Amino acid sequence: MEGAGPVFVVLLGAPGAGKGTQAKYLAKALEVPHISSGHIFRVNLQVDSELGRKASDYLARGELVPDDVTIGMIRDRLAQADCGRGAVLDGFPRTPAQAEALDELLGERGARVAAVLYIKVDEAVLIQRLSGRWMCRQAGHVYHQLFNPPKAPGVCDVDGSPLYQRSDDTEETVAHRIAVYLRQTAPLIEHYRKRGQITEIDGGQPIEVVSRQSLAALPEG
Ligand code: ADP
Ligand code: ADP
Repeated sequence: MEGAGPVFVVLLGAPGAGKGTQAKYLAKALEVPHISSGHIFRVNLQVDSELGRKASDYLARGELVPDDVTIGMIRDRLAQADCGRGAVLDGFPRTPAQAEALDELLGERGARVAAVLYIKVDEAVLIQRLSGRWMCRQAGHVYHQLFNPPKAPGVCDVDGSPLYQRSDDTEETVAHRIAVYLRQTAPLIEHYRKRGQITEIDGGQPIEVVSRQSLAALPEG
């Protein structure tokens, strides 16, 4: 990647498809930040910031936070110095308006989306995954009680912070989040497919296989 322009990679997929898991891997491999819109909202909720208060009800219900709030948050995040070489975007964009805003925000920097990875997983598997998901408080590292357990129970392997189960990973909210995804986010697959930017990855495979295929799908991968 030496000498190349910034590399912005978008991860698309339903809740539980493995976006966060793969984003951590890709961000490390590409040496760029992992930007998870959900994680930024959760951190803001925890510290009870204005942004956290605006997003709170939407997260609890499994609805999308309004575009203006979400786009404003990503605008601020992309303006930070560590995004100079690109970023892995996990959970953004999630609506056509957000996809358009992303093009504009990157365009202002002379950059563009380099690749979009669509991680595809059957719905029954999504529910199994989300019901056993554990996340670390500090950085959103992701585990699963059966499929990807931490070395020590309840503790993040990477940063030692405590693991917790998300309050929106209940059966009822998960079903709603999947419906919201199908209605509001899935149309982006076609949007990026028309631009010739989508690579579809079978997310039902083991984590390491998905990681290898994801990295290989990137322009310089
Ligand atoms: P998303 O960010 O798309 O919601 P996550 O990366 O948080 O998805 O993964 C959801 C859950 O599934 C986590 O518990 C994670 O450990 C587990 N998981 C992710 N990828 C796989 C995989 N390929 N096989 C089995 N479990 C996985
Ligand atoms: P998942 O693991 O299901 O993919 P995320 O952590 O990405 O979940 O998102 C959790 C919640 O944060 C969403 O249900 C939604 O309320 C909010 N959220 C995250 N990203 C966005 C976005 N791009 N637009 C609107 N709301 C978002």
